[in-house]
Amino acid sequence: MWTLVLNCGSSSVKFALLQAESGETALSGLAERLGSPEARLVLSQAGQKTESAHPDASYAEVFALLLAELEQLGLREQVGVVAHRVVHGGEKFSAPALIGPDVLESIRACIPLAPLHNPANLAGIEAAQASFPGLPQVAVFDTAFHQTLPPVAYRYAVPKEWYTEHGVRRYGFHGTSHAYVAQEAARMLNRPLAELHLVTAHLGNGCSLAAVSGGKSLDTSMGLTPLEGLVMGTRSGDVDPNLHDYLARQAGLSLEVVTDALNRRSGLTGLSGLSGDMRQLEEAAVQGHAGATLAVEVFVYRLAKSIAAMSVALPGLDALVFTGGIGENSAGVRAKVLNRLGLLGFALDEAANDAAVRGVAGQIGRPGSTPALVVGTNEELMIAREAARLLTPERPGSQQLGSNTLRAVTGGLA
Ligand code: ADP
Repeated sequence: MWTLVLNCGSSSVKFALLQAESGETALSGLAERLGSPEARLVLSQAGQKTESAHPDASYAEVFALLLAELEQLGLREQVGVVAHRVVHGGEKFSAPALIGPDVLESIRACIPLAPLHNPANLAGIEAAQASFPGLPQVAVFDTAFHQTLPPVAYRYAVPKEWYTEHGVRRYGFHGTSHAYVAQEAARMLNRPLAELHLVTAHLGNGCSLAAVSGGKSLDTSMGLTPLEGLVMGTRSGDVDPNLHDYLARQAGLSLEVVTDALNRRSGLTGLSGLSGDMRQLEEAAVQGHAGATLAVEVFVYRLAKSIAAMSVALPGLDALVFTGGIGENSAGVRAKVLNRLGLLGFALDEAANDAAVRGVAGQIGRPGSTPALVVGTNEELMIAREAARLLTPERPGSQQLGSNTLRAVTGGLA
């Protein structure tokens, strides 16, 4: 059985058709700038990329193109489930959920917590339900993995009623990636996940840390929204909470202007005045660009400081895991971070670190030091596995769904 994994943004859809067991991928791709004259579809199949223009295409048109492609591959009848990445599940979802009217309503109820992402996820789900009638659709939440955080980690020190009445607490994101790389790290260390204490660092355009103990998230660096925590590509991460007030009085900037700048014009972009792209900044720093040098240094310093802070959530630290575009490819960032973390027992193996790029996983610490691992993340595979676990009642840990429930939701095809 093949799983179609969809990640629907406001004007884009990322997709992958894969086997949850083996990870074999038959087709993957990206449709972007949907609804605009520049809308285009990129399909990757057997190492070949094809690109086509589809001016003003909608989700429905993209899904029609996908169906035609599946037909051509002879795989249309073998797609058993559509699994959706959903950004915010609030406190309602600590596991994937089979999508029916109640689940849709609950995702809708989380819109105030993720006003940009959840509406796009919902629109994608509704279009997919129309395009793939009869297939079970599963929602896999970015926040779910962090629902095991204890109150000491998720409560802010603010008036209690902000939490009880408005849900103001830390939720955390990138959960699928943190969960996946923790499992992979256990495999690489050849130890059961149940007895490992890890700090996982997902460093992409968005960046977050998680403290993972026995496969459960105990703390994470993102909070109510994905703006909190580390320095990111365009997001500031932590700033003084009085910033809005100060800039309003000092510069007459509105709430909207400051919020937009903290999300889109800050982080590496704001510090460097050049770019939010780490690869470009590392190249510019070598050429002597002062802003790029500062941006990389601040990124590394804040990251190292946060890793040390995150380890407080754990009874011990068995390994640090790097993943995401920066974590998987920037030997420079990893070296600078580990060199700041000698107090946690890290010592860099330079040759191993330089070798662990472009999809090469590995241990980059010297023998006898605290292990530091580079692990390629695979959110699509994890989403497919989570969906399979939900839909296969006999597997350990899967939700017990009665055949009537499945039939009701899938229209009898499950
Ligand atoms: P997203 O969070 O959008 O999925 P990625 O996980 O692909 O993004 O990460 C993008 C980041 O990874 C960018 O900052 C990019 O510059 C960085 N990156 C990718 N390859 C390299 C590299 N070889 N060296 C340094 N940084 C890299």
